[in-house]
Amino acid sequence: MTLDDAVKLKTELLILGLTISDDAMQTVGEGGLEKVFWVFEMTPSTHKGTGDGTRPLPNDMLLPYDLYADVRYNPESPFKVHRSGETIILLKNNSELCEVRWPKRPDFYNKKTRSGESMKKVASMRGDCGLRVCFDNACNYFSKGEQCKFCNIVPARQRNREHVVTVKESEDIFDAVKDAIIDNPVCSHLAMTAGASKDDGLGNLPQILEKLKPLLKKKNFPIVTAITATRNKDETAYLCSTGISSVAFNLEIWDERIFTEICPGKTRRIGRRRWIEALKEARDLLKPARSLSSFVVGLEPAESLLEGIDYLSSVGIFPIMSPFVPMVGTDYEGREAPSPEWIWDVHERATELIYKNLPEAFCEEIWDGDIGICPSCTTTKLFFDFMRRIVPRENPRRLMSNESVNAFI
Ligand code: SF4
Repeated sequence: MTLDDAVKLKTELLILGLTISDDAMQTVGEGGLEKVFWVFEMTPSTHKGTGDGTRPLPNDMLLPYDLYADVRYNPESPFKVHRSGETIILLKNNSELCEVRWPKRPDFYNKKTRSGESMKKVASMRGDCGLRVCFDNACNYFSKGEQCKFCNIVPARQRNREHVVTVKESEDIFDAVKDAIIDNPVCSHLAMTAGASKDDGLGNLPQILEKLKPLLKKKNFPIVTAITATRNKDETAYLCSTGISSVAFNLEIWDERIFTEICPGKTRRIGRRRWIEALKEARDLLKPARSLSSFVVGLEPAESLLEGIDYLSSVGIFPIMSPFVPMVGTDYEGREAPSPEWIWDVHERATELIYKNLPEAFCEEIWDGDIGICPSCTTTKLFFDFMRRIVPRENPRRLMSNESVNAFI
C-alpha cells in the first residue's frame, strides 16, 4: 500500500464509516481507547452501547503509514473490522485490506480530579498525543434555533450524558491537563473548544486559561482555542496574551450566501466581516500560521471554498479542513455525503494553494503540534495527510506515549 493508497483509505473511512465485529471490539474500554463524544457525535448513525459505555467503539484506528482515522459507525458501510486470530483486520466488501490497530487507553481515563469528577468526562485523548477539552458543551445558538446546520453539539450531549460534563470547572480541567500532559505525560498538546457562549464572548475561557498559566510555566505545551470569533480587538489581544499558541475561529463556509444560510447564529451574532477581522487580529499577534479557520468541505461548491482558502492563506491565515459528515441529530442528518473522490480533489487543490501562499504552515514546529493539533491526533481531518504529500514527512511518534501506538488485541 502506498501513502496515497493509505490517505485514500482514510478519506473513504471518514466518509463511509465502518462496522466492527463484537469480537474485534472486546477489549475496547479496557485496554483499547474507547470513543468519547467529547464535542460532536461525528457519525451518520448512532451505535448502541457507545453513548452509555456498555459496548464502546474504539476512538481512532491506526492505518498504514501511521495515519490515524476516526472510527465512525455506519451500518451501510462497505468497510468492516474483524478479528483474525491475534490481529485486527480491515475489510472492504469482505476482502481483506490491511491490519489496523487502535491506541492504548491512557491511565487518566480511570482517574478522578480533586473534586471527584471523572477525568475522562473532562478531557479526552485523540490519536496518541492530543488532549481535547470542550469546556462548555452547550451552544447558545441552539436555544435560538440559529445553530449551524451540520452541528450536533447539543443533541450529542443529550444522547451521551454519560460521556461528558457539560460545563467543566477550571479546577477539573487543571487537574486533567496536569495529569495527562505533565505528571504522567501521554499527551503533548491541548485543543480546547466550546459552543457559542451566552454573551457571544469568551465565556468561562479566561478563567480556565488563567488557571492553566502555572502549568505552562512548568512545561510549555501548545494550546489551541477553537471558539467563535472574538467580539473586538481587546478580546483578541487578551486571548493571544494568555500563552496559547494558536486560535481557531472556524468560519466553516466561505460563500457569503451559503454561510448565512448554514450558519445563521454566526452570521447574526458576529457576522462574516467581523469574523475575518478577528482572524487578522490574531494573525498579527501570534507566530506565523497560528491563526486558523476550519472549513467544512462538502457544503459549498469547490470553487468558492478554494477562493476562500486562497484568500485567507494569502493574508497569512491558515485554513484547515474537515470533510462534511451528515451527523446524527443535525439539520443535515440523512443528507448525502460528498464522494471521497471529490473530497480528495478539493483537499489536493486547497493544500497546493496553502503551500504557495503560506509555506510557514508546513514548518517542522507546526507538524509537531505547535497549533495544538498534529497529524497524529487530527483523526477527523485530512489536511495534514495532504500536506505530507507535498512536504514528505513521517507522522510524529512521541516518546512519552510510545506504547500507545502498539496494537491492543
Ligand atoms: S457555533 Fe455552530 S458549530 Fe459551533 S457549537 Fe454552535 S452550532 Fe455548533
